[in-house]
Amino acid sequence: MRVRGGMVSHKGLTKVWFDTDHGRWSRYAKQPCGIEMIVRKPADYAEITARVETAAAMAGLELTRYPIAELGLDLLRVDIPAREPAVARLAVFAGTHGDEPAPVVTMLEFLEQDLWKRSPSVAFSVFPCLNPTGFDLGTRENKDGIDLNRQYARDEVPEVRTLRAAVANDSFDTFVDAHEDPEEVGFYTYAFFSDSSWPRLIVEAVAEHGPIIDTPEADDHPVEGGVVAHGDEETRDERFREYMADGEWPLPFYFYDRGIRDFMTTETPGMIALSTRVAMQHAARDRLVDLLTASRSADT
Ligand SMILES: [Zn+2]
Repeated sequence: MRVRGGMVSHKGLTKVWFDTDHGRWSRYAKQPCGIEMIVRKPADYAEITARVETAAAMAGLELTRYPIAELGLDLLRVDIPAREPAVARLAVFAGTHGDEPAPVVTMLEFLEQDLWKRSPSVAFSVFPCLNPTGFDLGTRENKDGIDLNRQYARDEVPEVRTLRAAVANDSFDTFVDAHEDPEEVGFYTYAFFSDSSWPRLIVEAVAEHGPIIDTPEADDHPVEGGVVAHGDEETRDERFREYMADGEWPLPFYFYDRGIRDFMTTETPGMIALSTRVAMQHAARDRLVDLLTASRSADT
């Protein structure tokens, strides 16, 4: 694809622009020099696609497009290899639910602002938006009214079938399934790691950027200090098997079924400012990456 870009000043603002195959992408920065990072929610999946294309092209990252035939749209994936000997492979998924924009914005910023550069020994696989039609409609479900996050046990729904095929040969060490709870005012996480101190440490890092849930329950689950309580490892496996028996799997169960035991689902609170939620998503991922890097480096 072709990408042209530049910067022009106009009425005290600096406009940064790119032309891509999908049209012009631009933003204003308030400061005359340097680019102030403004949280910009994409208008639609076409803009997400254009921004991912541009960011990948500018950073020389590998963008893979998986056609979702029934939709006439592509599922997007960007792979970022480790630049030092890799200690871990991390996947990040966003946009399963179309009414939860912060994770999508977070992934765009991760690519556009080269935030992956702070973690040179981690290989990232980034899936910026798993539910294109839901994002365009601003709905939890896709355009057919289906909640993708109950479909990952099988290949029935086009978006899910495409994602399952896209990751079929991947062996991620861990992953982040980034979500929001539109009705909440505080952050919480479903976090499962072999080191049981990690969920608390991740919530502490998030708390530096925004509020943590202070009620005893989140989404009908007991929650302690922002972490959905799941008991010890044995209890957890038992509970997971119970949940999985109904065949209505959210994305994490698909990977759990494939043997990945370390992962977290982040839930930023949809009732507060988008910029705060995005900062909290970044903080959760960065803290996980740091914990992962430290533990893997200590192992070798
Ligand atoms: Zn969600």
